Amino acid sequence: MNQPIGVETLSEDTPKKVVNKGFFDDLFHEDSEKAYQKAIQTATESISGFLKQNKTPFSGIKPKDLLSVFDTIDFDTPLKDYKSLFDEVEKLYVNHATAYHLPNYIAHLNCPVVIPALAAEILVSAINSSQDTYDQSAGGTFMERKLIDWTGGQIGFDHQCDGIFNAGGSQSNMMGLLLARDYYALEYLGHNIKLAGNPPEAHRFRVFVSDKSHFSNMKNASLMGLGEQAIVKVKTDHQFRMIPKALEQAIRDELESGNLPIALVGTAGTTDFGNVDPLEELAHVAEQHHLWYHIDAAWGCALLLSDKYRYLLNGIEKADSVTVDYHKAFFQPISSSAFIVRNKYHLNIIKHHADYLNPVEQDYDELPAQINKSIVQSTRRFDALKLWCTLRLMGREKLGKYIEISIDTAKDTASMLRQQEDFELLSGSDLGALVFRHLPDSTKDYNACEMNLFIKKNMFFSGAVLVASTKVNGRFYLKFTMLNPRTTLKDTQNIVNIIRNHGQAYLQSL
Ligand SMILES: *Cc1c(COP(=O)(O)O)cnc(C)c1O
Repeated sequence: MNQPIGVETLSEDTPKKVVNKGFFDDLFHEDSEKAYQKAIQTATESISGFLKQNKTPFSGIKPKDLLSVFDTIDFDTPLKDYKSLFDEVEKLYVNHATAYHLPNYIAHLNCPVVIPALAAEILVSAINSSQDTYDQSAGGTFMERKLIDWTGGQIGFDHQCDGIFNAGGSQSNMMGLLLARDYYALEYLGHNIKLAGNPPEAHRFRVFVSDKSHFSNMKNASLMGLGEQAIVKVKTDHQFRMIPKALEQAIRDELESGNLPIALVGTAGTTDFGNVDPLEELAHVAEQHHLWYHIDAAWGCALLLSDKYRYLLNGIEKADSVTVDYHKAFFQPISSSAFIVRNKYHLNIIKHHADYLNPVEQDYDELPAQINKSIVQSTRRFDALKLWCTLRLMGREKLGKYIEISIDTAKDTASMLRQQEDFELLSGSDLGALVFRHLPDSTKDYNACEMNLFIKKNMFFSGAVLVASTKVNGRFYLKFTMLNPRTTLKDTQNIVNIIRNHGQAYLQSL
């Protein structure tokens, strides 16, 4: 007779089943510490390999070659030990993982991470607290609250502020828009959207964003049943910051068409240009028209830590709600993000209760429950511990210095690019996103978009340099996103030369 794995019957007349010694070693428990230590140690060896061997930001592997390795994996035949497990994981993943910590990785909004946060992450996943209620995470509840208060304080909010950690900026922007919509309906139409759904007027609700704002605003409007049509994209100036006069005109136009302006989203640090909207002037417009003022500071929250550049965020304290992404700007591992509101009572608009978690009758001053403030997630990671350990060990000032150094290098790189006759830089950047293209003088007739696309692709598959790209007015541009304080002007000069070489290769291929 086949025995189930790990189970043996003691004898014919004792039908009681016991398990082999060590059968539960794969579970994390009081007697499996040795197995745990061994597993973690083998995992950290993979990380050493990643740091030592991945000397370029990418291996350059092509999707079809990587996929062919995956074809050999059979989930029905488990591996014999952690060594074989991580050997396989290295082959499939680690050896081809994009290395954000290298200076030649200058593509997307991925920061190198700080070590105290990585140490915290070990506790986060092993202890595995879920942040919904006090009975699932006692100290974690207060650590998260203290960090939310601290962030609110940095923004300039008073003790009335509140908020919640969540998975990312897109979610925080969603919370901002949701509160804006539901608040408007309650306050001005006497309509409770949480209970009754969107009112008939909802198709006339309008949200004003800049034409360089994050695309999650569009997604969120459509998820909320307002449709993308609810988003009004306001013109930006030559530095790609929202023009307050254009905003006022857009609001007047919408009012004239019979539509209902409900919210304004200012962007502190656009994804493409890293520039901050004029937050103070936007605050005046929002106030004048009674708009909910949300600030998407997913990236720009970095400036909260810099005494030198903090002034760029002046006016952020007038926002009703703010998105901050610690995993973009505070050197935190993904995910680490928060939604902050100026007035904590606004969070009550969207509160839901479950009898088994947060019953209506409970006194939440006595027995707190973070889930009352969380719109999307129920079970929620204790990401706050990573930021906690970072701030307690490094302190605000040192983190701020890391940020200032990377901003200063971006400014030097912008000047350097402006001096190159064969490069066109579109705009300077408050935070460190430079959009440019290579335009060499050539006797050959070439298409600039095709050339720059060729450069980007060829650099990617060489693995040596990873840059990003974007389109502006239908034209293709390359983009540096600079978040690494260890990247120097010498590194970016070197990348510029590599770009030139690929440009030459393109011209020769014509
Ligand atoms: C990255 C980004 C977001 C989205 O944040 P996620 O954490 O990726 O969900 C929102 N707004 C801006 C300006 C961003 O740069």
